[in-house]
Amino acid sequence: MQPKRITVIGAGTMGNGIAHVFAAAGYNVSLVDIQQEFVDRGLTTIRKNLDRQVKKEKISSEQAETTFSRLVGNIDLAAASDSALVVEAATENPEVKKKLFADLDRICPKNTVLASNTSSISITEVAAATNRPEQVVGMHFFNPVPVMKLVEVIRGLSTSEQVFEEIMQLSRELGKRPVAVNDYPGFVSNRVLMPMINEAVYCVMEGVADRDAVDAVMQLGMAHPMGPLTLADFIGLDVCLHIMTVLHSELGDDKYRPCPLLRKMVAAGKLGRKSGHGFYDYA
Ligand code: NAD
Repeated sequence: MQPKRITVIGAGTMGNGIAHVFAAAGYNVSLVDIQQEFVDRGLTTIRKNLDRQVKKEKISSEQAETTFSRLVGNIDLAAASDSALVVEAATENPEVKKKLFADLDRICPKNTVLASNTSSISITEVAAATNRPEQVVGMHFFNPVPVMKLVEVIRGLSTSEQVFEEIMQLSRELGKRPVAVNDYPGFVSNRVLMPMINEAVYCVMEGVADRDAVDAVMQLGMAHPMGPLTLADFIGLDVCLHIMTVLHSELGDDKYRPCPLLRKMVAAGKLGRKSGHGFYDYA
């Protein structure tokens, strides 16, 4: 696929990273959010990340300038009307996503591919909000997007083989390593990762070991770059709880029940790094 112009919806943590990698690979990118200040914040983050890459001598200052010049911010979804591909990275809420996909279906030309970066919402369900479910696909990037190599490319029930292969190839052109996954709750990444984190929280709750011991076992014994509780704080405990709740309700198996200690910490506002407190303190 050679989309001349692509649109990224949502300029938050993931959206600005996705816009960054597409622009760096030579695509003209519209970055859309609901308020100008969110768009500006996203563009500022990209600018800072490009400057950091220049400082580390990973790219030249000319490359940084060229990449940045390919980005345009927008608060109107109509910016997607001339895009061959739209990658949606808006807030993780099924109603928000279904409305966005229905709107994009009206706005975009018939052949535009609509991709979602959702972590836990069914691609099949989002696709059903459009009249082109065969052109809807999951393109699940990882944070921080410019650094992480993996893209889970997710086939919805109706995704055409052609669209799926185009997105696999496009991911390679971005310098990523795409992996084929079918549309089931949590895909592969969160289906495996989140129950591990949840079980680590159970270990703390049941007194099997304390926080530091649980993290040390997984870090030193399993060669994980960080322990599961450190990782949970980094991801956000509310995000972990949300994904466990989706796995539990969608798969209907009690092995996915969220740990009561995880629920209690979220209820107390201890959300990890972003709130200053989680399993560790960041004050
Ligand atoms: P975020 O909260 O940082 O950013 C979401 C952005 O979407 C916000 O700026 C918000 O204003 C914007 N938005 C909301 N509704 C919109 C609309 N109708 N139109 C345009 N913009 C809209 O969230 P995030 O962490 O970047 O997550 C975005 C998506 O990526 C979610 O689906 C999430 O599940 C997924 N994801 C997140 C991570 C992660 O580590 N954060 C990793 C993989 C996938």
